[in-house]
Amino acid sequence: MKSEKISVLFASFEADPFMKTGGLGDVGGSLPAALKKAGANVRLIMPKFGTIPEEYRAQMVHVADFTVSLSWRNQYCGIEKLTKNGVVCYFIDNEYYFRRDKAYGFYDDGERIAFFAKAVLDCIPHLPGFKPDVIHCNDWHTALTPVFLKAFHRDDPLYSGIRTVFTIHNLKFQGIYPRSCCGDLLGLSDAQACALGLAYEDTINYMRGALCCADKLITVSPTYAEEICLDFYGENAQDIFRHRKGDLSGILNGISYGRYSPRTDKLIDYRYTVKTVQQNKAKNKLQLQASLGLAQRADVPMLALISRLTDQKGLDLLVFILHELMEQDIQLVILGVGDDKYEQAFRAAAQSMPDKMAAVLTFSEPLSHRIYAAADMVLVPSLFEPCGLTQMIAMSYGALPIVRETGGLKDSVIPYNKETGEGTGFSFANYNAHELLFTAKRAVELYTEKPDVWHSLVCRAMAQDFSWNASAEKYMALYRSVPGKESAS
Ligand code: ADP
Repeated sequence: MKSEKISVLFASFEADPFMKTGGLGDVGGSLPAALKKAGANVRLIMPKFGTIPEEYRAQMVHVADFTVSLSWRNQYCGIEKLTKNGVVCYFIDNEYYFRRDKAYGFYDDGERIAFFAKAVLDCIPHLPGFKPDVIHCNDWHTALTPVFLKAFHRDDPLYSGIRTVFTIHNLKFQGIYPRSCCGDLLGLSDAQACALGLAYEDTINYMRGALCCADKLITVSPTYAEEICLDFYGENAQDIFRHRKGDLSGILNGISYGRYSPRTDKLIDYRYTVKTVQQNKAKNKLQLQASLGLAQRADVPMLALISRLTDQKGLDLLVFILHELMEQDIQLVILGVGDDKYEQAFRAAAQSMPDKMAAVLTFSEPLSHRIYAAADMVLVPSLFEPCGLTQMIAMSYGALPIVRETGGLKDSVIPYNKETGEGTGFSFANYNAHELLFTAKRAVELYTEKPDVWHSLVCRAMAQDFSWNASAEKYMALYRSVPGKESAS
């Protein structure tokens, strides 16, 4: 039996360092390389955004150009490529759609994204020496690819044997448009839209199309895969998830230790390992305190929150108990941007106790590293969390996460058990402000009264392995399990 490499076309709207607005960018930037290491013949495909740094644009070479049709529109589509970290990356070029100052937030996002999803399929005959066995789509921006594959290529020999895998990174954003866009934009009849799962009430919902048409559905943690079958987490798609439970699984994301390791991180003041974490975290803390105007004390437990400031992140809980929490002998550092109501609440609280609390309401990658390296605990009390990287990064830096037991937080943090001493952090079950408060108080008490136990938890947290290797192996097993590989040549 000949052992062929499985060929994977990894389609994503974001991939670091070309485009990143959040966790999807991290995944698009790291998972393809990990898949390659695990033995896949993998290629990334994404839009050629106008904001891609010039150093990468200069490396791109033209591969092909052709026309993509979207209903009555015929649009130019170029393919360019470069190789990054050993992975061939294709860029879909259309200046009208993608030469803009950001990735999303335009009146015609529905059209731009439909164009991209169609281009992913239409480029296949133009990729020399590469035919995918699997197209791996990510989030609603690529949700129409499995739909178009079914709608337009069902009997096309060139596409036979191609299977689709769809990963849900964020179920909140589904791509919902008026029903009229079905014929006018997607070139589908109303009956087709219903049969393909796109039609929902009086709308067209891109993500629902993928949830119905993709061969396998993945979310970014096993617990979240369970949760989205429930009404509370399902965002109106819970019926589909329940119906397709056999095709749905969860694979935890990883983090890149090249970027998030206190041993090598050039963004922090004092680098450290498990051997030097006690001394150097204290030094980092003193530096951070000085730069943020906090009282300079190495012994004070420092809590941190590094987050988008949205209700998903459980910030209502934190705001509710903030003053009670701050009665403790602790310091709190907040780094985040987002909803006004949270920014105002954190700004006002920090102004009222400047020696104990700092709120930096901006996005700063370098500052986030300095905070991870200085903090003793990182708060992640999310309402829901498909995976979450913050808690994994925190553990790598020996800052123990305090999390709500949901989604990837539940799958990555082992709660401290005072009977056995095991644990890599602290957790609480219910979305309840006082559960957060008591859990934080328990952590602070352990830090203050049992430094040896604390240190053993820190060492264990730092030793956890959240690298992409394990996830990549699971994706490989999943690709192999999708029926149809044998029929692909
Ligand atoms: P999400 O993708 O839902 O925002 P994740 O936990 O998956 O949440 O990823 C958040 C990432 O963004 C982490 O790397 C975190 O350190 C980073 N981050 C969040 N807010 C900020 C900020 N204001 N400045 C710098 N980094 C931030």
